[in-house]
Amino acid sequence: MSFETFNFHPSIMAGVRALGYVRPTPIQIQSIPPIMEGRDLIGLAQTGTGKTAAFVLPILQRLLPGPRDDVRALIISPTRELAEQTCETTNELGKQTGLRSISIYGGVSMEQQTRRLRSGIEIIAGCPGRLLDHLWKGTVDLSHLEVLVIDEADRMFDMGFLPSVRGVLECIIHSRQTLLFSATMPNDIRRLVQEILHDPVTVQIGCMAPAATVSHALYPVKQHLKTSLLKELLRSTKTESVLVFTRTKHRTERVAQQLARAGFRATSLQGDMPQYRRQAALDGFRAGSVKILVATDIAARGIDVLDISHVVNYDMPDSTDAYTNRIGRTGRIGKNGEAFTFVTGEDTAMVRELERLLKKPLERRTLQGFDYAKPAPDNENIRSPRQSGRRAVRNGWVKVTVT
Ligand code: AMP
Repeated sequence: MSFETFNFHPSIMAGVRALGYVRPTPIQIQSIPPIMEGRDLIGLAQTGTGKTAAFVLPILQRLLPGPRDDVRALIISPTRELAEQTCETTNELGKQTGLRSISIYGGVSMEQQTRRLRSGIEIIAGCPGRLLDHLWKGTVDLSHLEVLVIDEADRMFDMGFLPSVRGVLECIIHSRQTLLFSATMPNDIRRLVQEILHDPVTVQIGCMAPAATVSHALYPVKQHLKTSLLKELLRSTKTESVLVFTRTKHRTERVAQQLARAGFRATSLQGDMPQYRRQAALDGFRAGSVKILVATDIAARGIDVLDISHVVNYDMPDSTDAYTNRIGRTGRIGKNGEAFTFVTGEDTAMVRELERLLKKPLERRTLQGFDYAKPAPDNENIRSPRQSGRRAVRNGWVKVTVT
């Protein structure tokens, strides 16, 4: 199937060609026709499937002939990064259409956003909190809204943003087309769907398992040796860009610093960083000047870097969904990727769940020449994230310093 089948306007096809898309992805094949018919839609798809273009292209097609300067499409995103990337995709695909979009999120000047909004905007990609601020101030007017997209709804719920999303929804009283994308369907999202979508079409891409283009390996290791193992693995493995996931913000910073001190082009990305630092980290990672990005799950949401060859789970994710989302950063659209997961004795139950999800035993690897018996240094904080606040003396060698 080709993009010609959808009969997009030539100015939109120019955007498709400029981004180098040749064939639509499965989520695009299934979603674009019903969205173009004006139907509400639930898209059950993980990141990396091409879901952004699946809603952006029909939105551009719908908005192209109508009036300008009114906000006619709103995409609600859980993170600043995702809002930025959605806006970027919209700008690139819609470059020849003359439609204008902006991203709106907190942590940056509201004045600047207000000035841009006044200049005439048709599409907003924004985070719910800052959107509400603008709505309350009257600087965003949604009375002409035609299409509403709630993107990564499950993550929005995880991050506690559902009340703000509901706040935004209360400001859109008239009928509009509503599209909701989510990798999973927790009960709260199901309830939201029932309340705000009318006779929706449901489109599901694959089961909620990681892409087949990713291979998975477990590296059993003691907690205090994780950073040393990571450095050795990075030295001995041929990689492009690498995304390393840790469970806590503090650990994200520490691991990135340790890698940078060891000479790796590494930086961190976590939610407590000021926006300019987050943006610099992402820009560097996208441009390739930063090769290793150490991030928390939430901060990494929406990272769209095609050359990620490896995802390293420095800490085991909390759920199989989180694993799928992390791994969705590599092996994107036909590329191969590798997922390495460091496991300690505490992760046994999660390993079993992952093996159930992947329907096969996961390969256990050891790195040749690595000293797995090295004792923990006395002064290092070797507390595992799950042992928070507990003093654990195990195996006769663990000395915990709680920081
Ligand atoms: P998404 O799932 O929206 O985050 O998209 C993942 C990546 O796939 C992004 O880099 C998109 O630019 C890219 N992409 C989307 N649609 C296509 C397509 N039809 N062909 C090739 N790449 C695509």
